[in-house]
Amino acid sequence: MANPTIAIVGRPNVGKSTIFNRIAGERISIVEDTPGVTRDRIYATGEWLGREFSVIDTGGIDLGDEPFMDQIKHQAEIAIDEADVIILVVSAREGVTDADEMVARILYKSNKPVILAVNKVDNPEMRADIYEFYALGLGDPFPVSGSHGLGIGDILDEAVKNFTTEIEEEDDSVIKFSLIGRPNVGKSSLINALLGEERVIVSDVEGTTRDAIDTHFVAENGQAFTMIDTAGMRKRGKVYENTEKYSVMRAMRAIERSDVILMVLNAHEGIREQDKKVAGYAHEAGKGMIILVNKWDLVEKETNTLRDFEQEIRDEFQYLDYAPILFVSAVTKQRLNKLPELIEEVSMNQNMRVPSALLNDVIMDAVAINPTPTDKGKRLKIFYATQVAVKPPTFVIFVNEEELMHFSYARFLENQIRNAFTFEGTPIRIIPRRRK
Ligand code: GDP
Ligand code: GDP
Repeated sequence: MANPTIAIVGRPNVGKSTIFNRIAGERISIVEDTPGVTRDRIYATGEWLGREFSVIDTGGIDLGDEPFMDQIKHQAEIAIDEADVIILVVSAREGVTDADEMVARILYKSNKPVILAVNKVDNPEMRADIYEFYALGLGDPFPVSGSHGLGIGDILDEAVKNFTTEIEEEDDSVIKFSLIGRPNVGKSSLINALLGEERVIVSDVEGTTRDAIDTHFVAENGQAFTMIDTAGMRKRGKVYENTEKYSVMRAMRAIERSDVILMVLNAHEGIREQDKKVAGYAHEAGKGMIILVNKWDLVEKETNTLRDFEQEIRDEFQYLDYAPILFVSAVTKQRLNKLPELIEEVSMNQNMRVPSALLNDVIMDAVAINPTPTDKGKRLKIFYATQVAVKPPTFVIFVNEEELMHFSYARFLENQIRNAFTFEGTPIRIIPRRRK
């Protein structure tokens, strides 16, 4: 089920993104230089007291050229829609402002749990400055300092107290997937075509999060799927729905809950920055990936059209070289019958375990073809490899010195592992570890 979600709201410059960065669990960045994934983040996951949660920085959801007050108002509405617990950030330096009062009123009416964080309380002498914020009517203000990392634990304690306790049992035999892509690439059409084609049992079940509606169906071969709802598929008529940041945030939330991502591109319009952001996030999150090039019926085909388009995708998404590409049409249903099987295959590959003996044979053969690198007269020595996790498959390689495992050599080993086993559609991770 969906993680409990915290949203951070407040007017500009109170310190929302500073606090967001303190709260967000750092994910090891595997893709260096994936635009927008590490910089300029608005969505992340974290953990506190053993509880996993998602956190949204609504201040990063830029709503175009709306007037200032409207922007913050809409950000507060997004928080109410998306979150279980809201942190309202205000600043001890400026005291209570009109904008603070407006947001507090909106949040108060929502009946959502609100934690009032008074930021920029950088030293104990400033603690007295928090009392005026009782006037906002949101209960006890919590003194914090985002830049010094003070008081963050207190607001997280409070947030966790307000998480609803029910943790639903996950059924591992059900494959969860979502369709991700820009507006108008054909996500809803693909869903309809897919559901129609497979003669499936469709049922809409209310998710725990408001407005999130997952579709469950069973394919003819008996495999059960859950399709996770994303923005742009079911329009809710909100003003911010079509803004880029909002749809990226919704996509990230869907990715978090999915096993396999179908990234839909448009044969007509090619690849955009937004696609890369979302794909990079899915890759880092270790999700299975299938690239669908939709509206293939509209493309004038010449001898090399398909090959050229495939090459363009490979160039743009180099780190996704494991993702199968399918050229489809929601209108003619071309190749759509292959899709459920492909999703199932990718899911199996994500869950595959390689026996250590076989794995070590592959690694030793790899070292024989391409000797380990040396650095300042020292050679990388590989002692042993073992798979430590699935979803995504993760391999620990015991070595003499971690630093000697250069990116290019790790990449070479990954390719050798991929050549030996079928990991199509799933990222795999290679972690060098010094043998003690
Ligand atoms: P946002 O617009 O609400 O996301 O605010 P930012 O996180 O970008 O912070 C706005 C400014 O306040 C930046 O210059 C931060 O360095 C500063 N700031 C953030 N937290 C603190 C704090 O705890 N104490 C002080 N003195 N400055 C802070
Ligand atoms: P979404 O915003 O990604 O859900 O996109 P829609 O499914 O609403 O599709 C946007 C438009 O593209 C609609 O007018 C569809 O009829 C059209 N469309 C979707 N898929 C195809 C396709 O495979 N071929 C053609 N020719 N049109 C398509």
